[in-house]
Amino acid sequence: MKALVTGCAGFIGAQVCGRLAADGWEVVGIDDMSDGYDTRLKDWRRDRLEESLNGRFRFTLLSIGDRDGLETLIEREGPFDGVVNLAARAGVRQSLMNPWLYFDTNVTGTLNLLDLCRRHGVPKLVLASTSSVYGDGERPFREDQPTDRPLSPYASSKKAAETLCYTYHRQFGLDVSVLRYFTVYGPAGRPDMSIFRFVRWIAEGEVLALYGDGTQERDFTFVDDIARGTVAALRPLGYEVINLGSDRPMSLLSVVHKLEEFVGREAKIDHQAPAPADVKATWASIDKARTLLDWEPSTSLEDGLRQAVDWYLANRALAAAVRLE
Ligand code: NAD
Repeated sequence: MKALVTGCAGFIGAQVCGRLAADGWEVVGIDDMSDGYDTRLKDWRRDRLEESLNGRFRFTLLSIGDRDGLETLIEREGPFDGVVNLAARAGVRQSLMNPWLYFDTNVTGTLNLLDLCRRHGVPKLVLASTSSVYGDGERPFREDQPTDRPLSPYASSKKAAETLCYTYHRQFGLDVSVLRYFTVYGPAGRPDMSIFRFVRWIAEGEVLALYGDGTQERDFTFVDDIARGTVAALRPLGYEVINLGSDRPMSLLSVVHKLEEFVGREAKIDHQAPAPADVKATWASIDKARTLLDWEPSTSLEDGLRQAVDWYLANRALAAAVRLE
């Protein structure tokens, strides 16, 4: 079995490639190595994949916006049994600054891949979507509730990509699983997300910027669990939208306190104004993932945070030097 994974040098993409290879898949990974955040982390992840996956992983520098490039790639590397589209611009707050970039990548890029699948007979596409599509909707978030009030261009772009997936399923019979991930964290995480920044700020004795009073809750989900759920979604399902979350929301402030304990140092918290595109809380209903994917998260927040801290300390030269903006 052979998969095309887009965004393979990203936080979740690298874990998905590792999981696929461990399950016996041959993996072709593409990434444009763009500067949404410090590219040294992306280089680090790609280098680890090339070193550790021993011929089961091949990397190509390519954008999902490059239709000719995708065509050449599939002619050279295909046929594929599945495409996992993780490539995206993924910052909620940053998307307010340049929404066009988010639509070009997340919507047109997804369209390019859907059409590639249609024309080349790839039977399955998995799309990474987000809990952000629920906005400030009723909690816990269920897949069948309305998602037409997203609070950021990022969330709107993911919702648009989801609807394109439905159209391609309906018109061309393509099997598509849309996965709505909930705040993913873990080793080699994203430096624009809270956990990476909190660990860094606490470990280096820097001021920890906390939007709002810290009572906002997130359904933090460990990256290995997300990777396992993503690979499970490569099975034929028709068209389905499935939450992958932990079903255990936790406040940001209690996460900070856990991290203080694991790093062994107190945080210097600076409370800042709440960010307008941030939702107050996220919480996943995961009944559908249990039923359709036979999936449950298996890593506790405690274990996962410990692994994130361990990674930081083991890779401190890189992690402390990575730009946070
Ligand atoms: P990430 O930014 O680490 O990974 C995305 C990767 O896509 C990056 O390596 C980037 O270089 C690449 N990329 C961007 N534009 C591209 C393009 N045009 N062509 C090819 N590659 C491109 O982010 P992540 O956290 O690993 O997220 C992966 C997916 O999961 C994204 O689609 C994101 O929206 C979604 N998601 C993530 C979270 C989370 O908490 N991390 C939550 C919900 C959804």
